[in-house]
Amino acid sequence: MLIIMDHGAAQPDIDRVVAIITEMGYQAYQLPGAQRTAIGIVGNGGRLDGGRFEALPHVARVIHVTQPYKQVSREWRSEGTIVTIGEGVSFGGDDIPIIAGPCSVESETQILQAARQVKEAGGTALRGGAFKPRSSPYSFQGLGKQGLELLALARRETGLPIVTEAMDDDGAKLVAEYADCIQIGARNMQNYSLLKTVGRLGKPVLLKRGMAATIDDLLLSAEYILAEGNDQVILCERGIRSFDSAVRNLFDLTAVPLVHKLSHLPIIADPSHGTGLRDQVTPMARAAIAAGADGILVEMHPTPDRALSDGAQSLYPEQFAALVVQLRAVARVIGRSLPDHGAAIPDAEPTGAASGTPAT
Ligand code: PEP
Ligand code: MN
Repeated sequence: MLIIMDHGAAQPDIDRVVAIITEMGYQAYQLPGAQRTAIGIVGNGGRLDGGRFEALPHVARVIHVTQPYKQVSREWRSEGTIVTIGEGVSFGGDDIPIIAGPCSVESETQILQAARQVKEAGGTALRGGAFKPRSSPYSFQGLGKQGLELLALARRETGLPIVTEAMDDDGAKLVAEYADCIQIGARNMQNYSLLKTVGRLGKPVLLKRGMAATIDDLLLSAEYILAEGNDQVILCERGIRSFDSAVRNLFDLTAVPLVHKLSHLPIIADPSHGTGLRDQVTPMARAAIAAGADGILVEMHPTPDRALSDGAQSLYPEQFAALVVQLRAVARVIGRSLPDHGAAIPDAEPTGAASGTPAT
C-alpha cells in the first residue's frame, strides 16, 4: 500500500504515519517526490485496510499496490528510474547506451583490442565475463580474478565502464571491487541469496531474465535487490527457451514495453543470447531499440572464430561498427540518441539493401 501525503504535509505528519505503520509490524519507506511525499508499506501479506490512514491529517489518498512486487512497480514510483554506471553513462533516460565486448575475457591482447574497437565504434561500455556460467563443467570457465584485473586495465586504457558477471556471494564482493555494474546472469536470476548480496553492495546491477522466467518472476527478482536498498537495477531481456530449435532462444521483445508499463526500472535487450546467431543480432538489435529498449548488450569479439565462448553469436568488429551507425539512426527516429563520448563516430548514411542494412 502507498500513502500519498498532500502538499501541506510537514515532517511530524509524515512521522505520525510512519509510527502507525511500524506499530502495525510493517516497514515504512518514505518516498519524497518533487510535489509530495509518499510512504510505502511493505511486509503485509494481504490487502490492508486503508481507512486508518485516510483519516489522518494531510493524507491525500491511499493507493493499493496491486502487483506482487512493490518497490519495483510503477504504482510505487511513477517516474522512470535512471541508472548511472559511469560518467555520462545512464540507462532509463533519452540516451541508449551500448554495452559491447566479448562473451569472456580471454587474454590481455584480446580484451584490450576489443575495448578499443568498442570505443572507436561508439560503444558506451565494455562487457566481458571473468566468471562464466557454462552449461558444461569442461568448457572454459573464465579467468576469474585475473579477468577482472584485465577489465580494469581495459577501462584505464579506454575510459569505458565495465559490466561483468558475478556468480556467487564471494564472487560478487570481488566483482564489486572492479566492475562499474554487476551482471547477474540468466542462470542466477533466482539465486535469492546472490540477489540480496548485490542489493547490499550498492553497485548498479544488470539483472538478466532467466531462460524460463515470466515477467513477474523477473520483477520479483528485482524486488529482492530493491528491498535491500539498491534501486540501481537495469533489467535485461535475453531470450527464453522455446520449442523451436531454429534459434538458441526466443527473443521476447514484448518484454520491453511490458516492463515499461509495469515498472519504473530501465530494461535493455541482449540480441546475442536472444538469438544465438550472428546474422540475427543486427536486425533484432534494431528492433529492440524500436521497441523502446533503454540500451543494448551485444557480444563482439576481435576474432569470433577463435572465441573461447559464444563465438557463433559474436559480431565481427566491423559488423559492430556498422550496427552502432544503424542504431543511432533508429534511435533518432523515436526521439532518442546514443551517447556521444567523443569517439570518431560516423553519421548514419542511407545504405543499400545489399549490405543487409535497413532502408532509411
Ligand atoms: C553472458 O552475458 O555472457 C551470459 C552468460 O548471459 P546469460 O546469463 O544471458 O546466458
Ligand atoms: Mn555469452
